[in-house]
Amino acid sequence: MEMILFEQACEIVMNSALKMDTEVIPFTVSLNRILAGDVVSDIDMPPFNKSSVDGFACRKSDLGSDLEIIETIPAGVWPARDIGKGQCSRIMTGAPVPFGADCVVMVEDTELTSTGTMKFMGSFTKENIARKGEDVHKDDIVLKKGRIIRPQDIAVMASVGHIAVTVSKMPDIAVISSGSELVEPSEIPAISQIRNSNSSQLMAQVSRAGASGKYYGIAADNAEQTLSIVNKAISENDITIITGGVSMGDFDFVPSVLERAGVKILFKRIAVQPGKPTTFGLHPGAVIFGLPGNPVSSFIQFELLIRPLIYKMMGYEWQPMIIRLPMNEKYIRKSVDRMALIPVTITSEGFVSPVEFHGSAHISALSDAMGIISIPVGKPIIEKGEIVSVRQI
Ligand code: AMP
Ligand code: MG
Repeated sequence: MEMILFEQACEIVMNSALKMDTEVIPFTVSLNRILAGDVVSDIDMPPFNKSSVDGFACRKSDLGSDLEIIETIPAGVWPARDIGKGQCSRIMTGAPVPFGADCVVMVEDTELTSTGTMKFMGSFTKENIARKGEDVHKDDIVLKKGRIIRPQDIAVMASVGHIAVTVSKMPDIAVISSGSELVEPSEIPAISQIRNSNSSQLMAQVSRAGASGKYYGIAADNAEQTLSIVNKAISENDITIITGGVSMGDFDFVPSVLERAGVKILFKRIAVQPGKPTTFGLHPGAVIFGLPGNPVSSFIQFELLIRPLIYKMMGYEWQPMIIRLPMNEKYIRKSVDRMALIPVTITSEGFVSPVEFHGSAHISALSDAMGIISIPVGKPIIEKGEIVSVRQI
């Protein structure tokens, strides 16, 4: 099977998105979920003409005279009296403005006279009234479906009384590691063994993408054992991710195991560096990724291919945060037949600097990385000072 361009791989993956059902949950636990129904306001906001300062509610045309103070209106209390000519009411921020008043003057701009009237000392600049419905009208859509729910959105839901929110169900996602050299993080590796870091990394990436991961353990480099874990994972999940065993080595059984499991492979090679052996296929009702075992490759391919897919399955057209900044140094690469994906950090002066990186297995490089830049096929050099697009990771 031929090597395809990264853009083609993205298109194939995104076109394979399954569609998740929806569910209704309490709005207080909806952080990071994808909104699946519009949120509509049940009230006007503000619900009444509201004072935006502490001061005196009165008529603009009366500001030249001393005004009789007829009552005090605290927040949360409806005014007892209308304002007539020559009158004002003391009013607190957030309280309803009484009928008859067309402005609120700030307490700082006033003085009390010896006879107990209010004298305006400032120069009139604004009314200081937030009008009923000026923010939102009853039945207005305040949050549109297809967005990721953030804390400020939860405040909007609270304000309009939207306490039960319709969100997309999270896809079920299986994580499997493959490799006879792997032991779990709690173990001390024997000589020739290494700890399985990909599974925990992928589980965390799945959570960050707003979904729920289920870990299926380590499959040894043994086709039968790998097949039985893969079969179970595929039957129980919407997305199955297996890392390791997709390269050209003698024990890289994953592509053949996937085929035996009935997976229709759509690609086995992408023209990217790192991540070339990334494999993708379909099974009825499930999508399957075989990611390279190198932790950097696995991380980057998840971010670029799987995270957008998870969001799309939940109805969210995600746009990753991309910032354009100048390179701190010249960067040269030897081979240009693949798109390069380079973990970078951003210096305190705002320049982009590739993190030190000795091949795709160098895991600590990622901890220093703030983003990824890409160099297209055919381009060997990025000049110092050249503006690059950093995709946040
Ligand atoms: P593979 O893709 O199976 O050829 O593995 C490529 C490299 O990644 C090898 O050095 C593996 O030991 C390493 N590797 C594979 N799987 C994992 C894993 N789950 N955690 C950490 N390193 C891994
Ligand atoms: Mg392996």
